[in-house]
Amino acid sequence: MTDTPADSDFIRDRVRRDIEQGRNGGRVQTRFPPEPNGYLHIGHAKAITVDFGTAEDFGGICNLRLDDTNPDTEETEYFESILADIAWLGFHPAAVLHASDYFGQLYAWAEYLVEHGLAYVDDQDTETISAQRGGFGKPGVDSPFRDRPVAENLDLLRRMRDGEFADGARVLRARIDMNHENMALRDPVMYRIRHSHHFRTGDDWCIYPTYDWAHGQSDAIEGVTHSICTLEFDTHRPLYDWYLERLPLPGDRPQQIEFARLELTHTITSKRRLARLVADGTVDGWDDPRMPTLRGLRRRGYPSRAIRAFCREIGTTRTNSRQNIEALESYVRRELNATVQRRMAVLRPLRLVIDNWPSDASGNPVVEYFEVANNPENEADGTRQVAFSGELLIESEDFAEVPPPKFFRLSPGREVRLRGAYLVTATSMEKDASGTVTAVHATYDPATRGGDAPDGRKVKSTMHWVSAAHGVSITAALYDRLFTAAVPGEATGEPLDDLNPTSRELLEGCVAEASLADVEPGQVVQFERLGYFAHDSEQRLLFHRTVGLRDEWAAIQRRQG
Ligand code: ATP
Ligand code: MG
Repeated sequence: MTDTPADSDFIRDRVRRDIEQGRNGGRVQTRFPPEPNGYLHIGHAKAITVDFGTAEDFGGICNLRLDDTNPDTEETEYFESILADIAWLGFHPAAVLHASDYFGQLYAWAEYLVEHGLAYVDDQDTETISAQRGGFGKPGVDSPFRDRPVAENLDLLRRMRDGEFADGARVLRARIDMNHENMALRDPVMYRIRHSHHFRTGDDWCIYPTYDWAHGQSDAIEGVTHSICTLEFDTHRPLYDWYLERLPLPGDRPQQIEFARLELTHTITSKRRLARLVADGTVDGWDDPRMPTLRGLRRRGYPSRAIRAFCREIGTTRTNSRQNIEALESYVRRELNATVQRRMAVLRPLRLVIDNWPSDASGNPVVEYFEVANNPENEADGTRQVAFSGELLIESEDFAEVPPPKFFRLSPGREVRLRGAYLVTATSMEKDASGTVTAVHATYDPATRGGDAPDGRKVKSTMHWVSAAHGVSITAALYDRLFTAAVPGEATGEPLDDLNPTSRELLEGCVAEASLADVEPGQVVQFERLGYFAHDSEQRLLFHRTVGLRDEWAAIQRRQG
């Protein structure tokens, strides 16, 4: 994690300089340009915080522009999810725009380039064109159609637009330099023929612009001043500028600025590969709590504030690197620690019977209520009453018949504290035929109400508990990394080879204090000693573990010095 303060990264420095120099009349306008071909993920969250955050810091605006130039992969479903996810992250586009709205202007500009001898129609197929492109240190080969007369190019381009030719029969290419040291400038393709239905323009078009031909021009049409994108586009910047320098633009020329993608350990952010996880059923869907999509993280219980803080505070650089997933989790934990309420739940219940617990006049065990704080970090969250009685459920792993070294929880003869209630001492056990402990018997000390002994004697352990007669049944989903390797695919080149086969453990038959029944769908609570858990947005009383309580990031930082 870099400690670059968010307000002085190289992008903001550049914007500040441009404003000082009076470029664009001091205006700042950015855009976030996703292709509506999948769901947004944690990498997009980084881009969103950079795009929106930079504009915001300088009093500018940021639009959402759907880069919908590929009719074959795009859908309304994705478009709608993108809108919703950006809003959830806490950003508000000044306008929602579509590259497809500029198809007419782009086409007019393509004719303009043709008329100026700067573009030509090539009748060769894609394979031939790419074979002619050459390589580093290997010159390209001119297409036999490169010197077509302008009138013929114009005629062919119009007939391409009018649907006269089959898919792939011809392309429009910029006429730049087949020997350029930058491959992106070796007569790049501007239009391809695709007789496909577009989710917005329908069948109006059968030629579609490439990313490079659409992007800078869309920026210019909208008045974008700083077109921020990821590092893989830096070799495309000369092409971005080449088009803009040659077109009769309505205003100032936008400039492209690149930064390093966000990558996280144990995580992939390739939409194509994430789509495969969904398609082959490895995960339950795009919003599976193990997915790095914003939907997945949200369902897992990640607060958007924590994601924003993480993206801002890791800084923005031009060097590719991979952040530790534990750092993101640390932001999530910090946010949840401050904001969410505490509850008691037992994931793997073991009966604890208090043999000296009193009964009332009609022979029923007495029920006592303890008032406990909802969130010790926030007094405003108030308190609640938790029922306690003679038969309780405790965590199986909090009892050991023969305690191993350093095990200070319950074992025969040992006294422990039941959080906020009483001190109890284990006396005996019940076992089933196989010798497994099915219940522990104990006695409580009535003088320790609230959890402290009047004689000041100490116990080494405090345990959570639920009254058996008052608990509600819940299901808990515990998660491990979706990919075992820190850098998925590092060994074989295929990230999916590193999938963790046991990334989810579903625990049925967990028991929680009665107040859990009131937790709203999507709400996160802390289960004391167990971690933060998000109530599923649909399935009642299913809780996803968001993160555990231990800050593994702190330990990693200590190791790294
Ligand atoms: P994919 O290649 O997996 O389809 P993409 O990068 O093409 O993903 P887009 O929807 O085109 O996804 O991206 C929209 C914006 O988000 C782009 O500006 C892109 O640079 C940015 N972006 C995508 N992934 C990341 C990432 N991991 N870190 C930072 N920015 C990202
Ligand atoms: Mg893309």
